[in-house]
Amino acid sequence: MSVLEATQTQELIELENRFGAHNYHPLDVVIERAEGVWVYDIEGKRYLDCLASYSAVNQGHCHPRILATLIEQAHKVTLTSRAFRNDQLPLLYRDLHELTGFEMALPMNSGAEAVETAVKVARKWGYKVKGIPDGKAEIVVCENNFHGRTVSIVSFSSDAQYRDGFGPFTPGFKIIPYGNSRALAEAITPNTCAFLVEPIQGEAGIIIPPAGYLKEVAKICREHRVLLMCDEIQSGLGRTGELFAYMHEGITPDVLIIGKALAGGFYPVSAVLASAEIFGVFHPGDHGSTFGGNPLGCAVARTALRVLIEEDLVKRSALMGEYFIYHLRTIHSPKVKEVRGKGLWIGIELHSAARPYCEALKDEGLLCKETHDRVIRIAPPLTIRKEEIDWACDRIRKVLES
Ligand SMILES: *Cc1c(COP(=O)(O)O)cnc(C)c1O
Repeated sequence: MSVLEATQTQELIELENRFGAHNYHPLDVVIERAEGVWVYDIEGKRYLDCLASYSAVNQGHCHPRILATLIEQAHKVTLTSRAFRNDQLPLLYRDLHELTGFEMALPMNSGAEAVETAVKVARKWGYKVKGIPDGKAEIVVCENNFHGRTVSIVSFSSDAQYRDGFGPFTPGFKIIPYGNSRALAEAITPNTCAFLVEPIQGEAGIIIPPAGYLKEVAKICREHRVLLMCDEIQSGLGRTGELFAYMHEGITPDVLIIGKALAGGFYPVSAVLASAEIFGVFHPGDHGSTFGGNPLGCAVARTALRVLIEEDLVKRSALMGEYFIYHLRTIHSPKVKEVRGKGLWIGIELHSAARPYCEALKDEGLLCKETHDRVIRIAPPLTIRKEEIDWACDRIRKVLES
């Protein structure tokens, strides 16, 4: 590394700190390009990306096919707004239907917007179809959930920091413990329209509920006519070794929320998927988004989905995840409490704060992000190869066993 480049790194960090709001605490690595599972900083140093932008780049960074689609579509038309039709949105609808079996979709941009959309459609379904008295609809959610950062979404967060200073909050949510189906049965009232849940809690630290949990909550929801809404923004599209994490239990939610990897990290595209009956409560003007369903995003998403399927990334995630977890479990260190995961969604829970280890791993060429204080999350692009996992495990072993 030259002195010049190190100075430039420092300058960029100072610019960011001076002119940008400090709502993140990033590791001090300044990335300028990326390819597949690797990212490169401005000093030319290479790192293995073990976060994959919170699973938005499951297909690997700068995937050439998705890039080609982005460029091609950008030359044609990028934005029409939904005031007019475009030739890409119907094809994305069809692709999503064929891939997932859901009858209909509603496209948005960020994950949080898709969650907001799901909340709106569930409430409206509750009033118009289930017959809940106006203004009384309740949605049940879980402790330690992560569904995004809007005011309504943080209104039902159990994380004090996510809420601190942001009230008054949106009413109509009930928080129950995660992984406990009896708590759901007890929380449901005649006014409950939906249960919103992550099949595996990611931001909470890769928390896997007891086997059978989703099956039980699906049954409880069906019996009480409550919509089961799975937030698969991070767990979906191959991350856990199935196309969607709910598939591990052979259930189908009423409402599926996706985002992140839907556009392979090139573009923010999210969507809510549900039946025609559920979306039947939306009429023109009820909901919308200027950028939602734009032709550029739709074209990119279509290719991102095609890459996921044609490169067999879901199966890869299952196989490589198993390989990764097996090797991580051979690390013997008093610092490690547990290694757990599904597919390529892995948490190494420590007995102490994970941040210093993430810093040390960065120096070894591995980019990981601590989650919930004591968990190192390992979630590389699904294109990762065995040799790269070996390379990563050597470094993780060195840092944790030292
Ligand atoms: C990232 C994430 C969101 C929010 O998505 P944004 O695109 O950041 O708004 C919601 N739910 C889950 C489970 C997520 O991982």
